[in-house]
Amino acid sequence: MSDLMKKLTILGAAAKFDASCSSSGGGRAGKPGQLGNTCSAGICHTWAADGRCVSLLKVLLSNACCYDCAYCVNRRSSDVERATFTPAELAELTVSFYRRNYIEGLFLSSGVLKSPDYTMELMGETLRLLREDYHFGGYIHVKVIPGADSRMVNAIGLLADRVSVNVELPSREGLSLLAPQKTPENIFAPMNHIQRAQTMSLEDRRHFKTAPLFAPAGQATQMIVGATPDTDLTILRLSHALYRKYRLKRVYFSAYIPVGENPALPAPGSRVPLLREHRLYQADWLLRFYDFQPDELLSESAPLLDPELDPKCVWALAHPERFPVEVNTADYETLLRVPGLGVVSAKRILAARRQGHLTLDNLRKLGVVMKRAQYFLIAAGKFGGRLPPGSPFLREALAERTNNQLSLFTPTTDPVLPALPQHKVPLLA
Ligand code: SF4
Repeated sequence: MSDLMKKLTILGAAAKFDASCSSSGGGRAGKPGQLGNTCSAGICHTWAADGRCVSLLKVLLSNACCYDCAYCVNRRSSDVERATFTPAELAELTVSFYRRNYIEGLFLSSGVLKSPDYTMELMGETLRLLREDYHFGGYIHVKVIPGADSRMVNAIGLLADRVSVNVELPSREGLSLLAPQKTPENIFAPMNHIQRAQTMSLEDRRHFKTAPLFAPAGQATQMIVGATPDTDLTILRLSHALYRKYRLKRVYFSAYIPVGENPALPAPGSRVPLLREHRLYQADWLLRFYDFQPDELLSESAPLLDPELDPKCVWALAHPERFPVEVNTADYETLLRVPGLGVVSAKRILAARRQGHLTLDNLRKLGVVMKRAQYFLIAAGKFGGRLPPGSPFLREALAERTNNQLSLFTPTTDPVLPALPQHKVPLLA
């Protein structure tokens, strides 16, 4: 194996823990008589602003790191094989892949080599080579190292399509316990800078058509779920604050995969909280597109999402007085709160009822998921559910029974989460 291929194997595999690039590739060997194969290290998919799915080379510049974040396989104290690309190697590799039509862009992150600024300088040089020497016009997403100087962030933002900083842990206590070299301040300072630079660049563009764009695809972040005792309420409140304050495009949640022995972390071999991650994505969707507030979905007395029900169903069960909703007269916001009705089906209902009264049959044809919606709506005065909205048996009828992942949501008896006190100090109000 060539030196470059060895580096790619190590650094592609090391990048797979970053979920904020949408998806990672799986590994599949080519077989005689079949076409194509896939390599788990390196290629992932993401969605461009126009909705296209594009493949990216997902890789670290280096997995050598002078920080010691306990949840990370690349931490200083971890015994893993290390590798570092030079900017020239990485730029050449990206362009070679692009020319062979393997990828349409680059997702670049890195461990901290010497210091955040030194690492960002190398990442910036890689981007400069790509954009200026190779005239590479493909999509580039770069992870900013917390604590990097704003001038470095600026230089990167003018060359990349998306720049983002990972929050990683949702509370100050979590960070100081597991990532002592990181602080909320050195994470939020670059986030703030990115948001301001974007606003200024859009303003400049209004006056000068040739003004440079700063990270036109916006910024995103990632939070690890299940490494600390932080509740779903804490995570959702922080996500909501990040969307509001820094206008983030996405908050990604990454179920913690145990990577080492540390009494403050779930033990190696513990279950990965994938169901919890899934429920957080559902709740996040409600915050972004359905105008829900975190405190409508969860409370201090019930701070974890229900593993058996999607968060909108849980909310609807807690508010029987709001149902059933008459689809022929309800406004858009009210329709959006009905379980089984999404943004698309609510808009279709509004459009279709201009032509005449809708019946339950019409709703099915408009894409409404009647399995859930039947209990919460009426059409032309007709209710189609087997149970009324306030029925004590409704929860049972709606529950999605799953496997033993469910025990992840009972932290008092669950051995997965260590018996640490609940974190109280939010990262961002
Ligand atoms: S700074 Fe990043 S790469 Fe380094 S140990 Fe922390 S999470 Fe891992």
